[in-house]
Amino acid sequence: MRRQALGIAIVFLAGLALACGSSEQQAGTKPGATPNGATAAGAPSESEVVDDARLRGADAEVGEWLTTGRTYSEQRYSPLDQINESTVKRMQEVWQFETGLGRGHEATPIVHDGVLFITGSWSIVFAVDARTGKQLWKWDPQVDKLVAKKACCDVVNRGVALYKGRVYVGVLDGRLVALDEKTGVPVWQMVTVDQSLPYTITGAPRVVDGKVIIGNGGAELGVRGYVSAYDAESGKQIWRTYTVPGDPSQPFESKALEKAAETWKGGEWWKIGGGGTAWDSMAYDPELNLLYVGTGNGSPWVRQLRSPGGGDNLYLSSILALSPQTGELVWHYQTTPGDNWDFTATQHMILADLKINGRVRPVIMQAPKNGFFYVLDRKTGELISAEKYVEVTWADRVDKGTGRPVENPGVDYKEGLALVKPTAFGGHNWHPMSFNPKTGLVYIPTHDILGAYRNEQNFKYQPGHWNTGTDFNVFGLITKDTVSGALVAWDPVNQKEVWRHPYALPWNGGLLSTGGNLVFQGTSDGRFVAYRASDGEQMWEQHAGTSIIAAPVTYLLDGKQYVSVVAGWGGAFGLVSGDVSKGSAGDGKGRLLTYALGTGEPPAPQVVLDRITAPGEVYDGERVYHKYCATCHGGAAVAMEGMKDLRKMSPEMRNSLGDIVLRGALRGNGMPDFADVLTEADIAKLRTYIDHRREESGLN
Ligand code: CA
Repeated sequence: MRRQALGIAIVFLAGLALACGSSEQQAGTKPGATPNGATAAGAPSESEVVDDARLRGADAEVGEWLTTGRTYSEQRYSPLDQINESTVKRMQEVWQFETGLGRGHEATPIVHDGVLFITGSWSIVFAVDARTGKQLWKWDPQVDKLVAKKACCDVVNRGVALYKGRVYVGVLDGRLVALDEKTGVPVWQMVTVDQSLPYTITGAPRVVDGKVIIGNGGAELGVRGYVSAYDAESGKQIWRTYTVPGDPSQPFESKALEKAAETWKGGEWWKIGGGGTAWDSMAYDPELNLLYVGTGNGSPWVRQLRSPGGGDNLYLSSILALSPQTGELVWHYQTTPGDNWDFTATQHMILADLKINGRVRPVIMQAPKNGFFYVLDRKTGELISAEKYVEVTWADRVDKGTGRPVENPGVDYKEGLALVKPTAFGGHNWHPMSFNPKTGLVYIPTHDILGAYRNEQNFKYQPGHWNTGTDFNVFGLITKDTVSGALVAWDPVNQKEVWRHPYALPWNGGLLSTGGNLVFQGTSDGRFVAYRASDGEQMWEQHAGTSIIAAPVTYLLDGKQYVSVVAGWGGAFGLVSGDVSKGSAGDGKGRLLTYALGTGEPPAPQVVLDRITAPGEVYDGERVYHKYCATCHGGAAVAMEGMKDLRKMSPEMRNSLGDIVLRGALRGNGMPDFADVLTEADIAKLRTYIDHRREESGLN
C-alpha cells in the first residue's frame, strides 16, 4: 500500500498529540529587548490591585487587559482606536521578548499596571515590563518532563489570571499555583488532580467572586472530567463539579449526575473515565450570576465502547451553566449527544446581547469542534439558532424543535471507515474568537481538515496511554490538499458568513478585534496580520519569526496604544502535521511580540510556504510508530521544531533504540519508556520504518 503524500492520519490524531517530553531546545532566557524610543522606560507606578469590582468593570479599563477574554463576557474586543484602518500601515514592532522555550505558546497576555503576564510552554510564567520588553520575573514550576506523556496536545498553557496582587496559573502536572504579582514567588500551591492518572492542566484559570476556577484535560488517555473552585486567598478547595457520572454502583455526587447516568448505557465507562474534561473555555455573567463551562469529548472516543446501549452521555460536549458559589448545575446544552468524533465543546464562548427578531436577547455563542455555530439564550440554555460555519458532513442540521443535531447516515464508523468533516482538530479549536459589537460580527479561526475514523481492532484499555478506541493508522487517505484554514467573519444574528480570508494551512492564531475597525491575527505561516473588521481587506502584515497560534491583546501605555501577541508553533496540529507545516513554522523560538504606531514604512510582506511531499512504503513499523510515537515525534517521522526528529538520529541512538524505548535510557530528557506495550520485535520494526523515512527524505 502506498501512502499518498503527507499521509499521516493527521486527522485521527486530532485534538491530540501526546507525551512529548523529549529533546526540548533549551535556549537560555534572553529578554531580547529593544526599548521603544517613543516612551521612556520606568518603574510601573503603584495602582489598585485587580479586584472583583475591576473585573466586573473591565470593559471600561481600555488601558489594561485584566482577564484572559478581556472581560467576563470573553468578547476579546477592545474599544481602542488609535491604531485603526487608516493608521495601521504605520504599525511596527517596538520590542520582542524571547521566552527561551520551544514548543507551542498559546497564552493570552494579561496586562496590568505596565506589566505583561504570559506563560510559555511547560507552564512557565513570565512578568515582562510592557514599556521595554525586559523580564521582571520568571517562575518555572519545574514540571517533570515525563508529565508530557499525559498531555494530548503539547506541553502548552493558555495563560494566567490576576486577582488581588496574585497571579494564578494552572500547571501541566495538575497544580494550581498563586504567585505574588510583584515578585513571582509562590504564595500557595494546590494539587487539583490525582497525579497517578493522566490529567493535565493547559487552560487559563478564571477568578469569580474570590474563587479561582480551574478544569483539566486528559480524555484522550482516559480520565473523568471536572471543574473545581479554590479560595483565592487560602487555596482551599470550595467545590468540585464532575462533568460525567462515575461508577453508578456508588452514590452520585449530585442530582445532576444521577440524571446524567441515565444517559450512559451498558458499558463500564467509569473504568476509563468517561471524559468530558473542561480543559479550556469559561465565561461569567455577573448579573445572572452564572459561570459557563465548556466540556470535552468522551473517553474513549468510540461511543459503542463507552456506552454500548446508546444514549446521549451527558454532560459530554456540552455548555454547562453553573452557580459560581456552589458549582451546582443550573442548565446544560449538549452540542454533540453521544459524541463519537472527539467533538469537544470546550471552545471559546462569548456573551453578548443581540437583537434577534426585534428582541434583545442575552446570548452565549460558541463554535465548537463539531462545525455548528450556536447561539443560545444564556439565561435558560434555550437554542436560538445553530448553523454550519464550516463544511459539516457528520450531521445534516440542528433541529430547531428538539435542539438536537440530525446525524447523517454512514458517519458512525461501527461498520468500517468513515470520512467525516470536521475532524477531531475541529472546525474550530481552542484558538480564541472575537466579537466586535461595532460590526456585529464574530471572527472565527476555522480549520478545514478531512477526518477519517475507524475502530481500532481489538481495542484494549492501556492505562497511561492513548485510549481513544480509534485506529490512528488509516493511511493513504489524507494529502496535504485535504487541509486548509480560514479566518471567517460570521454574522451571529443571521447565522451567515460575511467575509473570509483563506489560508493554505489550518491552525492559525486566535483573534482580537478593536474599535479601530481592525481584526488582528497571527498565522501558521509565521505572519502577524491586521484586517479591516468590516470587510476583511488586509491592511498590514509583518513576519513574526515563528508561527503564531495564540491570540493578541491591546492596551494603552502613556497614552499610546500597543498590540502584543505570543508566538510559538505547536499544539496538536503542530506536533503531528510534519511535512505539511514544515518550512513555514519559522525558527520555533517562543516570543512575545509588541507593536505600536511608528513613522517608518511598513515592511514588505513575507509569506513562506515550503511544502514537501514524501510518498513511501507502509511497514509494520509505521503502524507501531503512528500508534506510540507520532503524536510527539511527528507524522511520517517529521518532527516539529524542538522535538527529536527520529529520521536524523545518530547511529549510536539508532543502536540503543531498545534501551531508550523499552528501558527508559533517556527518561532524564523526558522520553518515557513503553515497556508495557512494546517489545524488542517492535523496536526492530520501528528501526526499519525510520530508516525508510530517512532514506525517503534524502537524509542519508
Ligand atoms: Ca479531545
